[in-house]
This record gives sequence, C-alpha cells and structure tokens, in this order.
Amino acid sequence: MTPAVELRDVSVHFGRTVALRGLDLSVAPGETLALLGPSGSGKSTALKAVAGFLRPTSGRVLLGGRDVTDEPPNRRGLGVVVQSYALFPHMKVVDNVAFGLRARRVPRRAVAERVAEVLALVGMTGFGDRYPRQLSGGQQQRVAIARALAIRPPVLLLDEPLSALDAALREEMVAELLRLRAELPDTAVVYVTHDQGEALALADRIAVMRDARLVEVGATPELYHRPAESFTASFLGASN
Ligand code: ADP
Ligand code: MG
Repeated sequence: MTPAVELRDVSVHFGRTVALRGLDLSVAPGETLALLGPSGSGKSTALKAVAGFLRPTSGRVLLGGRDVTDEPPNRRGLGVVVQSYALFPHMKVVDNVAFGLRARRVPRRAVAERVAEVLALVGMTGFGDRYPRQLSGGQQQRVAIARALAIRPPVLLLDEPLSALDAALREEMVAELLRLRAELPDTAVVYVTHDQGEALALADRIAVMRDARLVEVGATPELYHRPAESFTASFLGASN
C-alpha cells in the first residue's frame, strides 16, 4: 500500500543547529504514528516538514506517493493542529471551522453541513455561535481538531494537542481522541508528544526520537514490552 506520509532521509538544519538528521519514516493510511521524545529532540521539526511549514535542508517528503517537498502548506491538503496554531479569536466557532472550506470555495450549504458534522464528531454541537474565549481549553482544542478535519484531510498532524490542558482533562481528551480515531478509519494520524502515556494509549506505532535522530520505531505493544534500545526503555518507563 502507498504510504499516506513518507519522509525520505530528511534533514533540517537551522544555521549550526541540526534539528533533524536523516529521518526515514512512513505512515500508512488509517494508522496512528506517535513521534515520541524529549523536548528538543526534533519532533515538531519533523511534523513541520510534513506540513510544509519548513523546507528540509535535504531529503524528500511524499504524501500518498506524491513528492510535495517543494509545495507550500496550502497545496498539501493536510489537517494540522499545532499548539501555537490557536483558533482565530475574532471568529465564532462555526467560522473558525468553516475557514478551510470557504478558502476552497465549497458552496455555502455544503459548508454548513460539514461544519455541523465535524462539530458533532468532536462533541461540540451547540457551541457554534461562541467565540474561542468563551470556551474552556479542552473545548478550544476540540474545535481546533474539528477545523483540521473539516476538509477531510487524508492526513491529520497533531503537535502536542493536549499539552496545555491539566492532567484530568488530558485523560478525558485521550478517550475522546480514541473515539474520534474510530470514526476516521482511513485517516493517517501523526501524533507528536513528549508524553509516553498518550503515545501508548493512542498510537499503533511509536517512533522514538532523541537528539534529532530516530532511535527506533515499532508497533506500540512490542516497543513497550521489548524495546531494542535502552533509551526507549527508560523513556517509556519514566513517569511524567
Ligand atoms: P521538539 O518538538 O522535539 O521539542 P523541535 O523540533 O522543536 O523539538 O526542535 C529541535 C531542535 O531544533 C531544538 O534544538 C530546537 O532548539 C531547534 N530549532 C527548532 N526550530 C528552530 C528554529 N526555527 N530556529 C533555530 N533552531 C530551531
Ligand atoms: Mg515540539
């Protein structure tokens, strides 16, 4: 099967800083891959290379077998939720969610239908007329996910989507994300986190990152029970 996402020997340098060193990784349609590692290990850089927010210093990025390395983000057709990618504060929830659809000139009625559909998907029916500031952190994050899903992206990129939430809400949102995952059988999900609990709960496979490199990648239960690398064992074993 053609991978939904493929990184081929991708390196990213920022001046003298090497943020990513020769990353090879692929994600199948319908699969959730967690990029797990400590702060500064290159996870967000990898995700940005997929999203097109930065251009790799070397290597190629393919989506559904198509080389998109030289294409801007808006031509890649992805759903992206980044921590810093907050909702538009001056727009109601419905307009936030409709944004990508309107940019694609989807007819008005179809926009309204799709917005209702994705708000229902994330459990936010009835919140359409609110402004972001009138929502809790968890609700805002649900809306951000609905906005990313509105265009039916084949790939959903999530960069630490729960890190701003308190522990109890994080746990609730992990359950929400699992439910959502079941509703999106064909969507490939790349889930960036430094939280091993989230990775273990959500991912089919986990790619462990350290110092700009991929340490190892494996199916979640195997990686957890039989890590090949001692770094993986200590990182997965470590509590928050
Ligand atoms: P993570 O998401 O795993 O915390 P990042 O991918 O954000 O890590 O960063 C990896 C490394 O690249 C870090 O050393 C970080 O300081 C550096 N880095 C990331 N973005 C930039 C940038 N725009 N300019 C310079 N250095 C950067
Ligand atoms: Mg990051």
